Amino acid sequence: MFLEPSFRNQRSGWIEVICGSMFSGKTEELIRRIRRARIANQQVAIYKPQIDIRYSDHEVVSHDANSLTSHPVPHSRELLNVDEGVNVVGIDEAQFFDQELPGVCEQLAMKGIRVIVAGLDMDFRGRPFGPMPDLLAMAEYITKVHAICHHCGNLATHSYRLTQDEQTVMLGEKHEYEARCRVCYGMGNILRLK
Ligand code: ZN
Repeated sequence: MFLEPSFRNQRSGWIEVICGSMFSGKTEELIRRIRRARIANQQVAIYKPQIDIRYSDHEVVSHDANSLTSHPVPHSRELLNVDEGVNVVGIDEAQFFDQELPGVCEQLAMKGIRVIVAGLDMDFRGRPFGPMPDLLAMAEYITKVHAICHHCGNLATHSYRLTQDEQTVMLGEKHEYEARCRVCYGMGNILRLK
């Protein structure tokens, strides 16, 4: 389990990335870290891309309905307007942000802010998703969380799309995807198993 290197007296901030497939608990882990930061009296701001309108406009909501208030923003540059005095910036659904997000996170970290980024590392085709690969390369700390494969019960790393829709940015509803291990994901793509 991730333990915070420190809450205080840091010379600079840093970047943490929480990544994994759908249903792997990324948002739950983000919420856990944010709650702990608040207990340590840290000022926290949470952002998500405006595209994620699944449940609520102003909440970071995990599949099991834990939630925290967040700001939906159309572009990552808006994160640079974060209020003075904020120690921790949380970012959910980071894969849907623009390619400027890694540079923005770096600027925030240089200002002394702890940046916690959660997002899908791969899209449903198994390809690195949006700004996530750059963020993974630039982060001080990386946590890859795993779901459980719906077919065989092994650890799952892939998000398998059950519909035939080819559009990459399709918001995640439980019934449209399932988590799969590498083998069951590959078999599904060959046979279109459902
Ligand atoms: Zn499997």
